[in-house]
Amino acid sequence: MEHEQAKQRIAELSELLERYNHEYYVLDRPSVDDYTYDTLMHELADLEREFPDLLSPQSPTQRVGGTASNTFEKVSHAVQMQSLQDVFGFEQVGSFVTRIHEEFPEASFSVEPKIDGLSVSLEYRNGRFVLGSTRGDGFIGEDVTANLKTIRSIPLTLKESLPLLEVRGEVYMPRESFFRLVKQQEENDEQPFKNPRNAAAGSLRQKSAKITASRKLDIFIFNMQQCEGRTFSTHDETLQFLSDAGFRVIPGRKICTTTEEIIAAIQAIGDSRSSLPYDIDGVVIKTNGLDQRDAVGSTAKTPKWAIAYKFPPEEKETVLREIEVNVGRTGALTPVAVFDTILLAGTSVSRAVLHNQDFISEKDIRPGDTIVVRKAGDIIPEVLKSVRHADDSVPYRLPECCPVCGAKAVRDEEEAVLRCPNISCPAQLHKQLVHFASRDAMNIDGLGPAIITSLLDAALVKDAGDLYCLTREQLLTLEGFKDKSADNLLTSISASKTAPLDRVIYALGIRNIGAKSASLLCAHFGSLAAVEQASPEQIAEIEGFGEVMAQSVHTALHDPSVQALLDKLRQAGLTMPYEKPVTADDTAFSGKTVVLTGTLTMKRNDAKKLLEAAGSKVSGSVSKKTDFVVAGEDAGSKLTKAQELGVTVLSEQEMLSMLKA
Ligand code: NAD
Repeated sequence: MEHEQAKQRIAELSELLERYNHEYYVLDRPSVDDYTYDTLMHELADLEREFPDLLSPQSPTQRVGGTASNTFEKVSHAVQMQSLQDVFGFEQVGSFVTRIHEEFPEASFSVEPKIDGLSVSLEYRNGRFVLGSTRGDGFIGEDVTANLKTIRSIPLTLKESLPLLEVRGEVYMPRESFFRLVKQQEENDEQPFKNPRNAAAGSLRQKSAKITASRKLDIFIFNMQQCEGRTFSTHDETLQFLSDAGFRVIPGRKICTTTEEIIAAIQAIGDSRSSLPYDIDGVVIKTNGLDQRDAVGSTAKTPKWAIAYKFPPEEKETVLREIEVNVGRTGALTPVAVFDTILLAGTSVSRAVLHNQDFISEKDIRPGDTIVVRKAGDIIPEVLKSVRHADDSVPYRLPECCPVCGAKAVRDEEEAVLRCPNISCPAQLHKQLVHFASRDAMNIDGLGPAIITSLLDAALVKDAGDLYCLTREQLLTLEGFKDKSADNLLTSISASKTAPLDRVIYALGIRNIGAKSASLLCAHFGSLAAVEQASPEQIAEIEGFGEVMAQSVHTALHDPSVQALLDKLRQAGLTMPYEKPVTADDTAFSGKTVVLTGTLTMKRNDAKKLLEAAGSKVSGSVSKKTDFVVAGEDAGSKLTKAQELGVTVLSEQEMLSMLKA
């Protein structure tokens, strides 16, 4: 690669990795799997090795983790909390062992499972737990002592009292707790965590220790950082001592000397992976002698006396039993592979999306094939390839007709998607009604997928307009309905008649138009009639709208079936009121920077939305530029800082009154 090209690629990779770091370490919401991240990081490191003049000290390859947030007090680590050099092959494990043996032929190694959680330091003074912190950037972390105290296996007093002891461990969320939490988040319509690691990080870095306590975290201790009053010569001795002192020490470790022994130990840990009740993402190999560690030293980011062997994403073979074709809300026909259940990265998997005909043809995937399915830790499983066709199988073609209503499917060239064009297709109708009733749309409480199925099966509704004509008697004919439940549903349906216009537009399920675009549309045009009269060019003038979105709106609103539905909704008594939101210039919050802190009675996110709608920027940290701090119960350091800086502090009630004014 040319120098100029390398420079550009390094800039691209650095920017991308910075973004992923932020999502992973600060937001606890990664958008890519670890394997993808690691591959990009290695590409960057390789380029920097090839072009050393392009290596900047700010490069993601030179820095550990993320930065400490302002939510917690900052803590300076007496001993740097380093990361680990990762390797992906046994050859590299061999090179590491040879390098250490060249200097110390007698060296032995501790081979340990690499727990997939987040690193913390625990400090004890005279046998008492005094400070617990996150790793942060390795030098400065966050004080999470109160939250760590909720982890039962962290001893608050040690069996042996030493003047100073600092240990390092990995906080993790057992898989079972993770699945329970995700289920709960889904039920509450919250965005669920993607994997146990992020769930653990998100749970430990909570402002309220009560929430952390409810998340059932646990910890394994894997290193002694500093100790006064005792000396040790090997890592193994330190862990033995820590175990005796009352810590939950990393299990399943083995002391090895040769590369062969180490590889066998890695394989054994790998084999145990799916039966463990927690996630591990690799194996750590550490020089056992503490003097040897000191002699070998460290780079700025990682020790040279240890490496992390990372497991590749798990892949397994299975048999593809059938290709199911699902019909989406907008008629898109999506092929889904249904295969014999396999256990991958700790979860049972039996389905994976096959995207479209191009994806299937390229990999020549056929029902009956032996296929390879991969799951990179957290993210959705994917079919990697077909390894064997069944006898007399033929290339698979998606059906030409909709599998539900039989209408001839049309190919949407731009998106490589096949669609059922029949807007009365029962499958589309079902999904449309689910969308219509959903929380961000008409918010019809109690009208879930199962009831919609019953309504469609009994032919009581043919479109969303029919919902408003349902009677108590009709509902009572359906299984599971009693007087009270029928009345409740009718009340919810009726309450939705006053839903504002932007929700109604969103509820129509126009392609490419989400809740936010629907409100932009209303804010721009002010009424349904004005939107209906607008040309695609006029719609495209809205900031945030592209041509495709504008065309989508125009086509949908001029579609006779949509017009008929809107008429029906009007006749049913939907008022579709629309009040332009108070503009930034009209409120006390316009153009202001606001920080929310402490526990509010409303959801933090709802308060944020209200403030943003009133024209303010909601920020996470208090500075001289902050205009208001809205402080709820148990507000801590941000409130103190606001008071120090003389920033106006509001109660939640005051904020609400000012919003209404
Ligand atoms: P790491 O997780 O690869 O390895 C270092 C960590 O391993 C240590 O900090 C320690 O806490 C932990 N560990 C667990 N068990 C251990 C044991 N027995 N002994 C010693 N340490 C043990 O490195 P990292 O710097 O924490 O994170 C980088 C990794 O995080 C990346 O390689 C990537 O996989 C992931 N990441 C992913 C994204 C994403 O967007 N998906 C973004 C950033 C980072």
